[in-house]
Amino acid sequence: MDQPVTIALTKGRILKETLPLLAEAGIVPAEDISRSRKLIFETNHPHINLIVIRGTDVPTYVKLGSADIGVAGKDMLLELGAGDMYEPLDLNIARCKLMTAGRVDEPLPQGRVRVATKFVNVARRHFAERGIQVELIKLYGAMELAPLMNLADLIVDIVDTGNTLRANGMEPRDMISDVSSRLVVNKAAMKRKYKSIQDIIAKLTVAVEARRDAEEVAGNG
Ligand code: AMP
Repeated sequence: MDQPVTIALTKGRILKETLPLLAEAGIVPAEDISRSRKLIFETNHPHINLIVIRGTDVPTYVKLGSADIGVAGKDMLLELGAGDMYEPLDLNIARCKLMTAGRVDEPLPQGRVRVATKFVNVARRHFAERGIQVELIKLYGAMELAPLMNLADLIVDIVDTGNTLRANGMEPRDMISDVSSRLVVNKAAMKRKYKSIQDIIAKLTVAVEARRDAEEVAGNG
């Protein structure tokens, strides 16, 4: 008998990229997640359930063991800490960068720099390492607005194409970290449900590597 396993998925953009990868690993929800208001889903494997929650909540569910496995953006893991989790696999999806950004051609002020972000821990570490004094302003969305409204001098945010920054008269400055979605596993669950969890990691590893191989072939072709 396979031990029951719950996988916590990050909803939104990451979910859209996670579901095809899960399918390539042979794990398919029993119903269309995007058309449902449910939060818990059965899959084609009777012992595997999925829950769909906010990215900020995935590490909490996995750390506390309510979910055995999670799919979380590296940005969330950097911000919230790894806690009692393993991070066995880079899923190589939802790739982007954590960066600082400011208004085009605007120099930093003398003295304290006001930084608006939802990644306050990441930002605190980044500027502390560079000896730059900052005042952190926690926001929950639309970080790009803060410098335009003179709420902040810089932001720390996720950048993909850079279009959002450009559309708001801003430019990327320092690279903080590459971001992609990672598989995280509760440490106690890894011991108790070793076989089931290893089997899922193995299936996903094969799916991720198959994509890498396909990309390489396309790149070389
Ligand atoms: P872009 O305009 O392509 O640079 O995208 C920037 C915005 O898209 C950011 O402000 C994020 O909110 C969001 N975004 C882009 N990529 C991701 C990702 N992989 N995970 C979460 N949010 C993302």
